[in-house]
Amino acid sequence: MKKITLSTPLLGKEEEKAVIQVMRSGQLAMGEQTQIFEKMFAEFIGTRYAVAVSNGSIALYLALLAVGVKKNDEVITTPFSFIATANAILLTGATPVFVDIDEKTYTINPLLIEEKITPHTKAILPVHLYGLPANMKAITKIARKHGLAVIEDAAQAHGAVIGNKKVGAWGDVGCFSFYATKNMTTGEGGIITTNRKRIADKIKLLRNHGFKTNYEYELFGFNYRMTDIAAAIGIEQLKKLPLFTKSRLRNANTLSKALISMDKINVPYIPAGYTHVFHQYTVRLLAKNKITRAAFIQAMNEKKISTGIFYAVPIHKTKIYKHVAYSLPVAEKVSKEVVSIPVRSSLSLGDIKKIVAAIRSFFASS
Ligand SMILES: *Cc1c(COP(=O)(O)O)cnc(C)c1O
Repeated sequence: MKKITLSTPLLGKEEEKAVIQVMRSGQLAMGEQTQIFEKMFAEFIGTRYAVAVSNGSIALYLALLAVGVKKNDEVITTPFSFIATANAILLTGATPVFVDIDEKTYTINPLLIEEKITPHTKAILPVHLYGLPANMKAITKIARKHGLAVIEDAAQAHGAVIGNKKVGAWGDVGCFSFYATKNMTTGEGGIITTNRKRIADKIKLLRNHGFKTNYEYELFGFNYRMTDIAAAIGIEQLKKLPLFTKSRLRNANTLSKALISMDKINVPYIPAGYTHVFHQYTVRLLAKNKITRAAFIQAMNEKKISTGIFYAVPIHKTKIYKHVAYSLPVAEKVSKEVVSIPVRSSLSLGDIKKIVAAIRSFFASS
């Protein structure tokens, strides 16, 4: 029996053909394909500009630089994310200031942001975790009141929506990743969305050694470019993204309907008016119910169902950030209780039935 994996990139004939065309064209580095991809992605998100870069971590770093974050500034963010979120802040020389998460959505808790704002604060960097948008209405309101920039980490949330506005269009800048496990992929890759010409122009300079015209260097930049091979894959993946998302949503719905009737497990919560794109389908096994996550994972393993923990250690408790003195009790608790099960678009109905049956039998015997 084959293992039901957590993520598998879905690449078809279309991507193969596109890559071969780029290889035969001779234009492998950033060129026309990248421009087409940027235009398509900006249209998809609903922003005026999109600038493609080498990966999602670099997208965050360049977005921070473009809004003016520098050494000794502070940037408010969540401790419950992939470490790249905080590392991008650190790379600019600024300090990440962590704000605890909301217990239901697992995204940054807007009610706790203002108490962490100081004269050094320059920006707020929320993460749309697992594909669920952070509370952007509340966050952008606070940012406006205090004159702060907002950078969205949308690395897990391609196409997620609040109301009728997609993530990546709410803040000053949105950052996406096309890493192999994300909802759409270019192998490695990233893109920055914005409505502001000044920011788009600055990021274009930063990603290409500050090069403007014939050997005039406007500013200190470096090489953060996307290749046209990656962009050609991205164009085909973006065309398929609506279908990928539809399958993820259908799978998540089927799982939630089956699991919600079982005690002792919390299914993902979706606030009214929000569209979750289910990069991960993450359940929570409440520690107070005395069901250990390790036992759950072992039981899934025995049935050949992959699981993942995102994230077992909140960022402020990792080695690099352990100087952070304050505690963030919700993130610390939730990180011990979450576990992600497969939701990828290529799951069959049979796969989902197996997953549900495995969980049901685990609870029946525990
Ligand atoms: C994947 C991811 C990143 C980094 O993207 P890469 O393309 O892997 O560099 C940043 N933030 C979050 C939340 C991510 O999931």
